[in-house]
Amino acid sequence: MRFRYLSDLHLHTDNSPDGVDPVMMMCERAAALGLYAVAVTDHCECEVYREQKYDRSIFQSFFETRKAHAVFRGRLKVLIGMELGQPLHDPAAAEEALHSSETDFVLGSVHSLPGEQDFYYLEYTRENIYPLLTRYFDEILRLVKWGRFDSLAHLTYPLRYIIGNYKIPVDMTVFQERIDEILTLLIASRKALELNTSGLRQPVGETSPNFEILERYHQLGGKYLTIGSDAHRWADVGAGLEIGMEMAARAGFQHFTIYEKHEPHLLPIL
Ligand SMILES: [Zn+2]
Ligand SMILES: [Zn+2]
Repeated sequence: MRFRYLSDLHLHTDNSPDGVDPVMMMCERAAALGLYAVAVTDHCECEVYREQKYDRSIFQSFFETRKAHAVFRGRLKVLIGMELGQPLHDPAAAEEALHSSETDFVLGSVHSLPGEQDFYYLEYTRENIYPLLTRYFDEILRLVKWGRFDSLAHLTYPLRYIIGNYKIPVDMTVFQERIDEILTLLIASRKALELNTSGLRQPVGETSPNFEILERYHQLGGKYLTIGSDAHRWADVGAGLEIGMEMAARAGFQHFTIYEKHEPHLLPIL
């Protein structure tokens, strides 16, 4: 393997409603691939925290990940994390989740707009995508201002569906200023940007964010970059990480970041 410290900081297990395989299986796969570290980051969707029993499922995820951490000691660094979705739709639920256990790493995400369904379920037209994306990036900005996370997950999440499934082209220059504002605020608040490689194995065919945004983040002074496959089953653990690391190097990064107890640790890409 060319990349000595290849690590996957975005994994879902059967403790996520859309995840398939148990923590142990995901970690076995990561160890077999020779990864250096993984973070288990099961979903915690704050606006339905209690209705959909995330209070139980994330606790179960933390518990199983803590066991995996002990079992894999010396073979694979297993970090306890979660993907905190829409914390501003229910900040009290978000705080409860954040305080429910000692964790290493929290991804901050926006999967839906207030009062709307996940972007996965929306219908897209050439007319509605610009107002939707404007509202989406405004939500991301609010999330970054709130700031109770370590790394901002899949910055261009709706493109998975708009470009990937609906095949509607998006002129991203429209959002250049908003994206700059988000990246600048991330940097000022010493948060990381996630390079999410799941799009490489989906119809959208590119990472989130893409190379241009990644390069822009570096130009603006971005230092902390986490990388994750967003695997929801064992076969996708580590998928696309090498392409992602190459992209990061090309964008000018010499290091990527893993988190232990929310402290960033820079690891060399090569
Ligand atoms: Zn998911
Ligand atoms: Zn997500």
